[in-house]
Amino acid sequence: MKTLRSYVLGNWHEATTGFIPLFDPATGQQIARASSDGVDFQAVLDFARTRGGPALRGMTFAERGAMLKALSRALKAHMDELLDLSRRNNGTTKGDGLFDVAGASGTLAYYAGLARGLGDRRAQPDGDGVQLARTEGFWGQHLWVSRRGVAVHINAFNFPAWGFAEKAACALLAGVPVITKPATSTALVTERCVEILLEAGVLPEGALQMVCGRTGDLLDRLGPQDVVAFTGSADTARALRANPGIAAANTRFNVEADSLNAAVLAPGVGPGSATWDLFVRDVVREMTQKAGQKCTAVRRILVPTSSLDGSVGALSEALGNVVTGNPADPSVTMGPLVNSSQLEDAEAGVRELTETASVVHGTGERIVGAGDGYYFGPTLLRADDPHNAGRVHDREVFGPVATLLPYDGDAADAADLVALGGGTLVTSLYGDDPDWLEAFLTQGAEATGRIYIGSEGSAGDAPGSGVALPQSLHGGPGRAGGGEELGGLVGLRLYQQRIAVQGERSLVERLTGVSD
Ligand code: NAP
Repeated sequence: MKTLRSYVLGNWHEATTGFIPLFDPATGQQIARASSDGVDFQAVLDFARTRGGPALRGMTFAERGAMLKALSRALKAHMDELLDLSRRNNGTTKGDGLFDVAGASGTLAYYAGLARGLGDRRAQPDGDGVQLARTEGFWGQHLWVSRRGVAVHINAFNFPAWGFAEKAACALLAGVPVITKPATSTALVTERCVEILLEAGVLPEGALQMVCGRTGDLLDRLGPQDVVAFTGSADTARALRANPGIAAANTRFNVEADSLNAAVLAPGVGPGSATWDLFVRDVVREMTQKAGQKCTAVRRILVPTSSLDGSVGALSEALGNVVTGNPADPSVTMGPLVNSSQLEDAEAGVRELTETASVVHGTGERIVGAGDGYYFGPTLLRADDPHNAGRVHDREVFGPVATLLPYDGDAADAADLVALGGGTLVTSLYGDDPDWLEAFLTQGAEATGRIYIGSEGSAGDAPGSGVALPQSLHGGPGRAGGGEELGGLVGLRLYQQRIAVQGERSLVERLTGVSD
């Protein structure tokens, strides 16, 4: 059986105790084990701070971008192998595996391209300079500089490649060394990604370290220039954020957490229109892609009351075409949940939803007779009293599960219902009436990090609301964590410090590179 190793202090570290098992979700068989026992976390931090940090800060944006380009190419060159690992450890179909692995390579490539535009600088001017006194003898310019610490990346189990790469791309481009910690249950893909990236030979020593297993006392040892970027459940985020060391040092802490994302059908959109077809297609994809184990998956579906029965029919019919099973079989379109505890949690979640909703498609239970894998079919529910739907608005069932809710067709009512989710990553609106869409934006845009509009004009191009594109912000308020990732240059800000430089104009401009 494979023993996963950590990559620390420039070497692969293999533990001999404290192992956590990793499983193939399609069969329930153990395929690997991981442990970080024996890792000296203070030494890991010192190595990143004294080797990786100075080396990265010494490189220009263009040089860091060339490095990212090489990393992207390396992952791309190993795509088939990584897809196979993803199937074995994440239970992904080929399409779902590509979403993760090609997403990783694509995000690295995107940031490599962005770096070209930043050129030969090592810091970025922010806006224009401003005269601060009677003459240009006293001038000010804001500047983004690299933080002098480490980026600790703690990732969720569902995106072992993309989750790792999207965070690493931003930190490395900002000039900050990375210590990445994949979720142990699916660390097989991340471990291989790191191996591949190291083999590319472009990463300075100390720029990238990986901890497979527990983080020990790592978080207790962080300082004021360090950054934690966490993705996972809101409960874990709350516990880690409360670490006394992190609070005392005011370590930056970014959270991407649970989200009760909503898809909202505007009034007047019905069968026969391109917008309706897009709505049905998107909702089914966003429920079932990666077996619904996506932070951006649709959990609540708001439709005008007059469209409720039609929506139940159309969505149930489309969900009926989903083939759940072992992704090794090419006819399968949806794989299993990732492990037994996720399966039990999905079953428990549906039971909680049925306190106020009823199941209209699927069973909300493990598929019996499908072998020892963690198979759970698509499950659609309906709650007819949306303002009193209880757990429908706060229980994220991390599987192919969503609940239909009727609203009165008014944008303000839809916005109120979306806001009951307590802050979400994405809200998708399906409609062609700009006045209704504008009314929704005015009443409810602040409750979500991203608004995706599906309309006749976008139906041919829109990739689905679940895609976190590197050009657009990923993150959401409140329950979704309050964090910000990606969004082009916004993604670098977490790892940078904004400072004001003041002095005589020509000197300030020369020092900040504004007059280059
Ligand atoms: P999780 O159980 O909260 O774990 C997330 C990460 O935290 C894992 O790497 C886990 O490591 C680590 N962790 C847990 N306890 C820790 C501790 N005491 N110290 C240090 N690290 C610790 O979440 P998950 O089950 O992996 O992921 C599912 C959740 O993530 C869902 O709620 C989903 O909505 C959310 N998610 C959000 C986003 C987003 O971008 N907003 C994206 C993906 C997923 P171990 O695996 O070793 O326990």
